[in-house]
Amino acid sequence: MAEPDRPAAPEWMSDAPPARGRLTCDVEIRSAVAKDFGHVVRRMPDAALRPESAEDVAALVTFAAQRGLPVAARGRGHSTAGQAQVEGGVVIDMSTLDAIRDVGPGFVDVDAGASWRSVVEATLPHGLTPPVLTDYLGLSVGGTLSVGGIGGAAHQHGMQTDNVLELDVVTGDGALRTCSASRESSLFHAVLGGLGQCGVITRARLRLVPAPDRARCYKLFHPTVRSLTRDQRRLLADGRFPYLEGQVKAGEGGWRPMLEAVAFLSEDDLPRDSDLVGDLAHDQATLEIEDVAYLDFLDRMAPGEEYLRSTGEWFHPHPWWNAFLPDSTVDDVVEEVLSGLSVEDLGPSGVILLYPTSRRRMSTPLVRMPDEPVVFLFAILRTAPLDDPTALVAMLRSNRALYERVRAAGGTRYPVASVPFDRDDWARHFGAAWPGFVAAKDRYDPHRVLAPGQGIF
Ligand SMILES: Cc1cc2nc3c(=O)[nH]c(=O)nc-3n(C[C@H](O)[C@H](O)[C@H](O)COP(=O)(O)OP(=O)(O)OC[C@H]3O[C@@H](n4cnc5c(N)ncnc54)[C@H](O)[C@@H]3O)c2cc1C
Repeated sequence: MAEPDRPAAPEWMSDAPPARGRLTCDVEIRSAVAKDFGHVVRRMPDAALRPESAEDVAALVTFAAQRGLPVAARGRGHSTAGQAQVEGGVVIDMSTLDAIRDVGPGFVDVDAGASWRSVVEATLPHGLTPPVLTDYLGLSVGGTLSVGGIGGAAHQHGMQTDNVLELDVVTGDGALRTCSASRESSLFHAVLGGLGQCGVITRARLRLVPAPDRARCYKLFHPTVRSLTRDQRRLLADGRFPYLEGQVKAGEGGWRPMLEAVAFLSEDDLPRDSDLVGDLAHDQATLEIEDVAYLDFLDRMAPGEEYLRSTGEWFHPHPWWNAFLPDSTVDDVVEEVLSGLSVEDLGPSGVILLYPTSRRRMSTPLVRMPDEPVVFLFAILRTAPLDDPTALVAMLRSNRALYERVRAAGGTRYPVASVPFDRDDWARHFGAAWPGFVAAKDRYDPHRVLAPGQGIF
């Protein structure tokens, strides 16, 4: 059915390349890619491409460049502020380009639309795993490589973008190129963490490391934020745990800081709990310990997702806020922010993340982080009520104010966040990397057609 204000097929459609994959104006398909996990922004494309090959992507982007037609790759649509959307133009639904091509010694070759869940399911039978995984495995490889991809193992292995060996990329002129740290390195570094601005990743070769069998998960509740971050710094420095995160939970008596640490187990090397957590400052009476299979640990958000889908909360607006703070200011900022934040401000099923990572392990130029050896991820993952635009607008305003507080404290935004941003904000965000980023955009996307939903160019 045609929408009243938009014809069923745009006039450019008759000239579009005969994509082997499906280029469609179907309203249902377009509507599905006109929204994302955030449910904050909705932009309707003229068409959606479901590619069957990198060549389909290249043909479409070539055509779009000639016409000046905006194009956005959409991985799995878990952005929170329309980053993978486009008004008019074409969304490339990368979820159809999801093959796991090859698992070799120390690497896996995957199409960029593959989810991280399908990546680990393919590598684990070979005894291998990507070294760093996001907390949620339903994200696409291309989607997280476009932003960074952080998780509890990043303090030892860097971001997901730091563990990429090679990429195939369709640049904004429609050319399909292969790049790596030693081949077309300027393209490689413009695409990793490049927010989709310089090319569409169609294939990635990812580094793998030996996978453990099991995970022993510790949850340690701390009396204060400072006590939590003190222990986190200590664990980061001595490398005792290969996985280190933390949250601030809502409790009856206020916020409850919680350290999450995980030891990976093999049968012949079972750690003693007292050796691992005996010297930490948590409340001993509330210590939680659980042993699970490695895959269940990685996919630990799956039951929560199923539950939130069943209650409908998964489909509520999610004006999430994510930032990186330097070690020197994290305690003051987090305490100040929490003192002004209520459980209602977080919304039902909201989560606060707080954990450190090592700046030394991070080498992706476009993933912007404070310049201190230890950097903390601080994220307020809010859920807004359905059909309450006033509450949503208030949360977005609060996100902007929080961002300004963080920036004044030497922090940066993790660009997956819902924070209203203009071009000056982006220039400041990229800092010393901004001129190079602009030059890369001029070179690789000269017609400025790629990923307009990021609002950068
Ligand atoms: C439940 C949940 C949990 C999360 N957990 C984490 C976490 O633990 N760690 C973390 O770092 N992040 C996390 N995120 C954020 C997430 O990494 C980003 O939002 C990511 O971009 C989403 O991936 P996606 O495949 O859904 O991408 P999309 O939302 O579809 O796209 C994101 C951006 O990447 C671009 N893009 C997508 N695919 C490609 C491609 N193939 N080539 C070029 N550009 C492309 C899009 O155009 C867009 O600009 C989480 C998000 C959610 C909703």
